Formats: sequence, structure tokens, C-alpha cells
Amino acid sequence: MKYYILFGPPGAGKGTQAAPMAQRFNLRHISTGALLRAEIAAGTALGKEAAVLIEKGCLVPDEVVEGMIESAFNAEKEAVGFILDGFPRTVSQARDLDALLARRGESLTAVVSLIIPDSVVKERIAGRAAIEGRADDAKPEVIENRIRTYHEKTEPLIAYYKETGKYHEVPAEGTIEEVGARINELVDRF
Ligand code: ADP
Repeated sequence: MKYYILFGPPGAGKGTQAAPMAQRFNLRHISTGALLRAEIAAGTALGKEAAVLIEKGCLVPDEVVEGMIESAFNAEKEAVGFILDGFPRTVSQARDLDALLARRGESLTAVVSLIIPDSVVKERIAGRAAIEGRADDAKPEVIENRIRTYHEKTEPLIAYYKETGKYHEVPAEGTIEEVGARINELVDRF
């Protein structure tokens, strides 16, 4: 199985790029954000707990997202691999992912890291708020907190993955097709 991490700040285009990438390479797209929003929409206990944190721009607990990831791995029978979008988001989640993959006799294939400045991120999230109606996209202070959370908790993963030699950067500015072509070129190599 192939295991790709699509990495980047909120608004980098992970969800947008994951869909065509999944189709092209027969990979299953797992977005922890989308899975959490589905729990919220279904009104589950997990969803209610997550909603409070997401609406503040905070992360949900590691064990919650890790449980979702493991279930998604176990449910998959057809695909040749996975694209992880929005996971891992902390060094602790990255370590747990390594352990989970090792238990399955597998390992990470590559980290595709979308590079984009904070100023562009803010514009994109503001644009998306009008289209998708996500509660965590609408308020400037929540967006600020998500970007701050990214720099504090998620950005340290870059150093973590650089150590493994599996970390690859892709400039994420340009059209969706241009960024997609850069990603395809990278994924073709691994
Ligand atoms: P974005 O990348 O645009 O911030 P996501 O859809 O990936 O949006 O995530 C939305 C929210 O869901 C995050 O702000 C966070 O609260 C929560 N979340 C998603 N993935 C994780 C994760 N791996 N660990 C903790 N919280 C997460």
C-alpha cells in the first residue's frame, strides 16, 4: 500500500488537490476535517465534542482523529493506497501514525507539502467561506487561530519528516491545474 500525506496550512488546497490525485492514482482520500464535519452533521457525541473545538480554531484530541484514521484504513479493500489530508497535525500524531503503519507492516511513502504564504491562505479561506459555508471559515479571529495553531503545532512536522528523507515541497500558488500537475509529477516518482 502507498501512504501519502498531503501536508500544508489551512487553505493550502489539500482537499481540492486530493480529489483528482485520488482518482488518478487509485488512492483513497481520507480527510480528518471532512470526517469530523460528517460526525457534526450526524449529531454524534464525538461530533458535538469536536464542534466546540473546531469552531474556536483549536485541534481535536489526538486519540479522536487517530481512531478515525485507523477505522478508515481497516475499511479499505479496493484502493492501492491512501492520501492523508489534515492528518497528522501534531508531532505526537506523526509518531502514532508511524507506529500504526509499522503494526500493519507498512511505512509512509511520501509527504507532499503544499507551500503557500499566510496572506494567500487568508484570501482563500475568506473566498471558501462564501461558497462552502463552513462555520470555522467565517470568523477572522477563528481563521487567525487556525493559522497560529498551524505554525505552533503542525509546522514542526516539517523538520520531523525532513529527517526521514520522504519530505517533498510543492509550490501551491497558481491555478488548480498547475498545482495538480506539480503534485502528479511528484507522485509519479514514488
Ligand atoms: P483546514 O485544513 O482548512 O483547517 P480541515 O478540514 O482539515 O480544515 O480541518 C478543520 C478542523 O478540524 C481543524 O481546524 C481542527 O479543529 C480539526 N481537525 C482536522 N484534522 C485534525 C487533526 N488531525 N487533529 C486535530 N484536529 C483536527
